[in-house]
Amino acid sequence: MSTETSLILVLNSGSSSLKFAVHETGARTALLSGLAERLGAAQPTITFKEADRKATHALPAATHTAALDAVLAELTRHGWLDRLTAIGHRVVHGGERFAASVVITPQVIADIESCSHLAPLHNPPALLGIRVAIERLPTIPHVAVLDTAFHQTMPPRAYMYALPMWVYRDHGVRRYGFHGTSHRFVAQEAVQMLDLDPADHGLVIAHLGNGSSATAVQDGRSVDTTMGMTPLEGLVMGTRPGDVDPGALIYLMRRTGWTVDEMDAMLNKQCGLLGLSELSNDCRELGNAAAEGHEGANLALDVFVHRLARHIGGLAMSLRRLDAVVFTGGIGENAARIREMTLQRLAPLGIELDAEANRRCVGGTPGLISTGNKPAALVVNTNEEWMIACDTAALARAGAEEQDSLKEIA
Ligand code: ADP
Repeated sequence: MSTETSLILVLNSGSSSLKFAVHETGARTALLSGLAERLGAAQPTITFKEADRKATHALPAATHTAALDAVLAELTRHGWLDRLTAIGHRVVHGGERFAASVVITPQVIADIESCSHLAPLHNPPALLGIRVAIERLPTIPHVAVLDTAFHQTMPPRAYMYALPMWVYRDHGVRRYGFHGTSHRFVAQEAVQMLDLDPADHGLVIAHLGNGSSATAVQDGRSVDTTMGMTPLEGLVMGTRPGDVDPGALIYLMRRTGWTVDEMDAMLNKQCGLLGLSELSNDCRELGNAAAEGHEGANLALDVFVHRLARHIGGLAMSLRRLDAVVFTGGIGENAARIREMTLQRLAPLGIELDAEANRRCVGGTPGLISTGNKPAALVVNTNEEWMIACDTAALARAGAEEQDSLKEIA
C-alpha cells in the first residue's frame, strides 16, 4: 500500500456529538466529513458531507459507538476502510503533560485522564471517543492532538498568574491557552504565504470564531496567548466575555447569591456578543443589525474590536519583531468590516490596510490585506482537521519506521 493513498480519520468527540473527517494523506480537502449529533438524547442523527453531497440519517442508537460504526460503515461502502492507516483524536486539554501530538498508549490515556479536572466538559468525551475507536480499530495507530500543546512553549512570565505560588503548585492554576492546533497551522501558512524565515519571524494570529483567541508566535513557537487557564480569558467571544475584573464577579456573586454553577453558566453562555447586543452571538447577524442602526449590535462589535486591537497590540510586545497580524476563523476569514475596524485601530503599529484587498478576502479567499509595508496583515483559512491528519500521518509513519528498524535489529 502506498502512503499517498492511505487515509486518516480525524475524530472530535464531544459530550453529545462526534465530528469526523477523512483525509487522504497529502490532500487538504476532506474526502468525507460530517457530524453525529444528539448522542445521549432522543433521535440521534449523523450527517455525511462529501464533495457537494450532504445526507442526514437516523442513528440506530444514541451512543458514540453507534456513531463511529456508522462512519466505518460509510468507509466500507466506499471501499475505503482498508486504506485507513491511523486515527487522529482532537483532545482539548493536555495540561503541562503534552507539548506535542503523541501516539496513544495506555500511559497517554492515563495522562489525558489526569488532565480531565482542568477540562471536565471536554476531556472525558474525548477519552470516550478514543476508547470506542480503539475498541473498533485496535490494530492501527491512534494519535492524540491536543489544543493546549502548542502553547507549552510560553515562558513563565506569560503563563503565570500573579497569584500565590501554591495556587499553581497545588492546583495547576496557570495560563494554558487553547486553539493551539489552529494557531500552529495558520502560523505555518502565514510564513509560507509571506515568504518569511521559518526560524526568524514574529506573528500575531487572531483566531476569531464562536470562541476567539489571539497568539503571539515567534519563530514557529507560541510565546503568549489570550486564553488562560480556561477559554474564558481574553477576547470578547460569541457568548463568553473574555477579560473581566475578577472583583466584579465576586461582587456579583455576593449581590445575587448565585451558585458557582450559575456563575459558570452565565460566563460561558450569556456574555460576549450575545450579552452586549441582547440580540445574537452571531457576528454576521450583528453586522447586518448594526448596519441598520441596532444600538446593541453596534456596541457589541465596538467592544469586540476594541478588545481585539488592544490584545493584538499587547501580544506584539511579546515578540522580538512584528512581521504580520493574521486573521482566521469564521469571523477572521469572512468579516471584512471587523478586520477593517481592527486594523484602523492598529495604526500605531504601522499596519496599512488595503481596503480593496480586504473586501476581496471573504468566503474562503485568503491573502494579503495590507499595502506593501511591514507589518503585513493577512487572511488565512484555518484547517484544524487537516493539521490533525498531518500530525497523525507523520506519527504513524514514524512509528511504522521504528517498528521496521526494530525488526531489522531482531
Ligand atoms: P467555531 O468557533 O464554532 O468553529 P467559526 O470559526 O465557524 O466557529 O465562526 C463562527 C463565527 O463566524 C460566527 O460568529 C459567524 O457569524 C461568523 N461568520 C461566518 N461567516 C461570516 C460572514 N460572512 N461575516 C461575518 N461573520 C461571519
